[in-house]
Amino acid sequence: MIIILLGNIGVGKGTQGKLIMEKYNIPYFATGDIFRENIEKGTELGMKVKQIVKEGKLVSDELVNEIVFDKINNLDNFILDGYPRTINQALYFENFLKSRGKDVDIVINIDVPEEIIIIRLSGRRICPKCGRIYNIYFNKPKNNEVCDFDNEKLITRDDDRVDVIKKRIEEYKLNTNPLIEFYKEKQKLFIVDGTKSIEDVFEDIKKIIDDYIKKQ
Ligand code: AMP
Repeated sequence: MIIILLGNIGVGKGTQGKLIMEKYNIPYFATGDIFRENIEKGTELGMKVKQIVKEGKLVSDELVNEIVFDKINNLDNFILDGYPRTINQALYFENFLKSRGKDVDIVINIDVPEEIIIIRLSGRRICPKCGRIYNIYFNKPKNNEVCDFDNEKLITRDDDRVDVIKKRIEEYKLNTNPLIEFYKEKQKLFIVDGTKSIEDVFEDIKKIIDDYIKKQ
């Protein structure tokens, strides 16, 4: 099963993607995570994309396509978060799958209004040691800006600064919003309300996936 998680930045694609991975035992790939890991490790890829990611711009389609195709090459089941992000990427991806006799099964668009996204992202803090994610407004650490589990000082992602968040939202509207129509026309699109709790959003997603499995 091939699942794409669509939705603006900060709507919880990563959280839900990992829950789907655990429940259905399907590998999960997030292009943003791949870039951030490479930037952190200072790899050649990391050096190439560092400035682009920091400014909230999009990495070139050619580079992203190559990275994703390499990861999913022979897999039948996987979840993608952050890809495709442009119509061009979606068309390349479609051809790549077609050449292997495959197709996208489910596209889930997690919908959250822009004002809520800005609050969520500007409040997001990450533990640099264990990767746990907090929010200073909704999911506070017990002690001021320190990880509950290993006492590390929490950090803000470079691209979670308000000016960069706004830039990323603009990028999303321009480049990724058209994908909603693209997959709707192909009758692959499902929309979930991302303002609900993590558990409730996941319940909605499970229903979509389970219904789809039943129909196969
Ligand atoms: P994300 O965590 O998905 O918001 O991704 C963080 C950053 O990685 C984005 O702002 C882009 O700079 C880059 N990125 C991730 N996925 C893609 C993609 N499919 N196409 C182009 N750039 C991407």
